[in-house]
Amino acid sequence: MNDLPLLEPVVEFFRGVSQTSIALAIRYSLFAGIAWLLAYVIFYRRWKHRKVVQKLPAASEIRREMLYSACSVLIFAAIGVLTYTLAKDGWTRMYRHTDEYPMLWFWLSIICAIFIHDTWFYWTHRLMHHRKLFRFFHRTHHLSHNPSPWAAYAFDPAEAVVQALIFPLVLMIIPMHVAAFGLFMAWQITFNIIGHTGFEIYPKWMMDSWLGKFLNTPTNHAMHHEKLRGNYGLYFNFWDRIMKTNHAEYEKRFREVTSRPREQA
Ligand SMILES: [Zn+2]
Ligand SMILES: [Zn+2]
Repeated sequence: MNDLPLLEPVVEFFRGVSQTSIALAIRYSLFAGIAWLLAYVIFYRRWKHRKVVQKLPAASEIRREMLYSACSVLIFAAIGVLTYTLAKDGWTRMYRHTDEYPMLWFWLSIICAIFIHDTWFYWTHRLMHHRKLFRFFHRTHHLSHNPSPWAAYAFDPAEAVVQALIFPLVLMIIPMHVAAFGLFMAWQITFNIIGHTGFEIYPKWMMDSWLGKFLNTPTNHAMHHEKLRGNYGLYFNFWDRIMKTNHAEYEKRFREVTSRPREQA
């Protein structure tokens, strides 16, 4: 018999957080580890000319990014468990049976979630750059001037909360199948890690097409870390274009990075 029934939900919560943080840490290490292995080890010589900032981050910087990322994982796990509890109690619009909504919606909901997340990211990111908020929310992320894939989760605890809150919010705004939400999570971590790996992956011609004006690029985010101002977007570039917050040299830098010749071995 349990003498402290009131403690049960608390114990349950912490058990959930510990299990979820292990799962999130494995997922993060896998994604960031693969990016690191490919870009900084296996293909480094072949891809070096595409490294936006032409030097390697120091080992101490990478250790710091990993440490703060581990802290963010705990916060993401706590918000993940709260989201799960909300979903279980019917506070979100998450659904489990594919026949509850048309199959088309399964895919459309992922696109909607991506656009909602992009908008949330742009505006909260700009807000966190406000001089009164910066040191409480966003200072740690900007300790990386030349980020590695491990910077993708390197946040102050307050920023980690802001970054994680969008996931329960999305589930409250739109109906989403549990697997569609899983795909959205895979998309967000992949894009985030590619953005922080610091290698330009897109072809030069892209900047002269609508796609280049629409999509965000690793060059865009590398410049954000380098210059601290401008280029606030996540997946897309349209908020930066509408609000005229792209760095003045952004397109020129993209063209310079993508024009570099590949070094001969
Ligand atoms: Zn920033
Ligand atoms: Zn960043």
